[in-house]
Amino acid sequence: MNRHVTRRVFLGATVSSLSLSNNGVTSGAGSDQNLGVDQKKTGWIDAHVHVWTPDVDRYPIDTRRYSVDDMVPASFTPQQLMAECQPAGVERVVLIQMSFYNTDNSYLLDVIKKHPGVFSGVAIVDHHAADLPTQIEALSAGGVRGFRISRRGEGAGNWLTDPGMARLWKIAGRHGLSLCPLINPRDFAVIDQLCLKYPETRVVIDHFGRVGVTGEIVPAQLNSLCKLARHPNVHVKTSAFYALGKKQPPYKDLLPMLRRVVDSFSPQRLMWASDCPYQVQGKHDYQSSIDLVGDHLESLSKTDRQWILRDTSEKVFFNKVS
Ligand SMILES: [Zn+2]
Repeated sequence: MNRHVTRRVFLGATVSSLSLSNNGVTSGAGSDQNLGVDQKKTGWIDAHVHVWTPDVDRYPIDTRRYSVDDMVPASFTPQQLMAECQPAGVERVVLIQMSFYNTDNSYLLDVIKKHPGVFSGVAIVDHHAADLPTQIEALSAGGVRGFRISRRGEGAGNWLTDPGMARLWKIAGRHGLSLCPLINPRDFAVIDQLCLKYPETRVVIDHFGRVGVTGEIVPAQLNSLCKLARHPNVHVKTSAFYALGKKQPPYKDLLPMLRRVVDSFSPQRLMWASDCPYQVQGKHDYQSSIDLVGDHLESLSKTDRQWILRDTSEKVFFNKVS
């Protein structure tokens, strides 16, 4: 498929009705309430995007760790996001809870609610919270389909022994929700152990597990990522191209890594994602990200491409849950 085909699919998806209000969720409801509803979903899905609003009075950030100066760009609302997505034929998006908000998922939930059928969500929860099951139930009812786990530089070592983490893995597995580790290659061994322990729990690893983030695709790291394919529930986001390898559009130096994960996991366990707004800063742009999978990965069949650009994400993040 080339980009012309990508655009044709996009144009077939009743795009004219995809109009978001100027101020994101803080504007009055009304004109865009039918957004995405009852449309045939043929457009692509971006499996990893962050949104935030400059309205920190209504949606406060975690000031113990962040200040408004850390919010760069100053805002990335659904409106700004869709201006990037729509020309590339992307119709639905998985919102990943932004670290500025820590465990306060209210902006993410409000955006999902305001645009039915367009967004799914991956939230952040405090896995030590006494009412974790209740929190998860409420988030799931609000359209959340996964939980982000990360250790901010500490490594994932204690995840194997942490009782809160055990609870989170069990609950997620029971309800068909995903755990989405933002990890580094040194953490793959821990994920491997957790997957043995909780085989029911679906796992979606962000950004190739950051193989290539140092600028170099280290073969041993890629091998250990691909070894995780032995667990049928492990999925990988082929994403954040701006941050991996040479970090230079059109990102073709990442093609060998992409082919390798396609061979190991199959397209049915891979999902493309941009990691906006970071993918649209400086020399980077949205179309270059989707084109790496849509245009440059020539060995893929049309069906394979549809899995990576839409169907895997649809199955994992736009599913009904029990
Ligand atoms: Zn991200």
